[in-house]
Amino acid sequence: MKTRDYQVLDRAHHLHPFTDFKALGEEGSRIIERAEGVYIHDSEGNCILDGMAGLWCVNLGYGRHELVEAATAQLERLPYYNNFFKTTHPPAVKLAEKLVQLAPEHINHVFFVGSGSEANDTVLRMVRRYWALKGRPQKQWIIGRENGYHGSTLAGMSLGGMDVMHGQGGPCVPNIAHIRQPYWFGEGRDMSPESFGRECAAALEAKIQELGEENVAAFIAEPVQGAGGAIMPPESYWPAVKEVLARYDILLVADEVICGFGRLGEWFGSIHYDLKPDLMPIAKGLSSGYLPIGGVLVGDRVADTLIEEGGEFFHGFTYSGHPACAAVALKNLELIEAEGVVDRVRDDLGPYLARRWGELVEHPLVGEARSLGLMGALELVDPETGERFDKVLGVGNLCRDFSFAGGLVMRSVGDTMIISPPLVITHNEIDELVTKARAALDATLADLCQ
Ligand code: PLP
Repeated sequence: MKTRDYQVLDRAHHLHPFTDFKALGEEGSRIIERAEGVYIHDSEGNCILDGMAGLWCVNLGYGRHELVEAATAQLERLPYYNNFFKTTHPPAVKLAEKLVQLAPEHINHVFFVGSGSEANDTVLRMVRRYWALKGRPQKQWIIGRENGYHGSTLAGMSLGGMDVMHGQGGPCVPNIAHIRQPYWFGEGRDMSPESFGRECAAALEAKIQELGEENVAAFIAEPVQGAGGAIMPPESYWPAVKEVLARYDILLVADEVICGFGRLGEWFGSIHYDLKPDLMPIAKGLSSGYLPIGGVLVGDRVADTLIEEGGEFFHGFTYSGHPACAAVALKNLELIEAEGVVDRVRDDLGPYLARRWGELVEHPLVGEARSLGLMGALELVDPETGERFDKVLGVGNLCRDFSFAGGLVMRSVGDTMIISPPLVITHNEIDELVTKARAALDATLADLCQ
């Protein structure tokens, strides 16, 4: 079949996630046919540097035969069996052992699911169950953050703070509140980043007091907000948040779906920020996206209570800990470890990206260029005023489209341009990524000046 044939069929029958079908227009979707290393190849013969590692997940890059072999071997031996009731299988057990070995010391259990969204549904139920078992069932409220993303299921989107999602398919799950995000460039430039970070933590305390501390169960946040715009909080933020949570005896849920498995130069974002979360939802990089799998890493405080006092937890999915997915995830973690990928991101690739990506701040369209590990963002601003563009102009989307046409996948969140490439990217490929990002900025500027 030719590109056009796929596009016509796609248009006729395929409802894509997060897509405005009417706006798709005559042009249709790009058809991605194969991939290797950090590059994807489309049906027209274009080779495109995948600056987003798929959806922040292909941490080991494309074309890893070891992962394919792990899947094939497991599919032949035991393609499916479940972990319900009193059965399990070797891949799930071995993966659980590996994960707790990599996780912070106080985490010794994992509950497997199929995706990041299912992980956050599980979190919601576990948190409420925990407090009920502790004799405090009134602790129902969970506080998330505006613009946070925790998935697309009803619980995931309710925990997340994206208004556009809340406006569709609601009403949301009750007893979930949101506080401001620690987004200094977007919301705090009238003060120092450190003062702003403390102010955002103070907003958490104010919300706890408003809801009544006896009613608040947990706070959920990504160590670094990913889909909201690759937002690294000011250094003052997490220490202040930790202090508030400890004072009011509120659980911390660190959503590691994007930050986990080396993205920020540590096995988990929580290690970078020295958090001690009670629960850590994981997915994406757990299998480098080769097969769908997620989980919730459960700290001792919650796990011990669920095990000792909880009886049966009426929760789980047909594909919780699916054997082939678990085998691929285990091999993925073994490869990341054996190849020293996490250390390389922290000590070499992250600093190199920070230097090269940071140079883009010289571009007239860029107000800030930030990165941590292998996650980065550019804030687009009007060169005349240094202020952000009117959202309706869609400058970010324009830049994204120029970037794709120029051979780089760069994502736009409003007028914030984001990258999150595979963790196996080389220095030369980072140079290529920066050159292509600059070309997309130049093309955007030229278009705006027309
Ligand atoms: N949590 C975070 C932080 C995410 O970024 C995502 C997806 O982007 C999810 C949860 C949901 O994961 P999934 O798409 O696998 O359901």
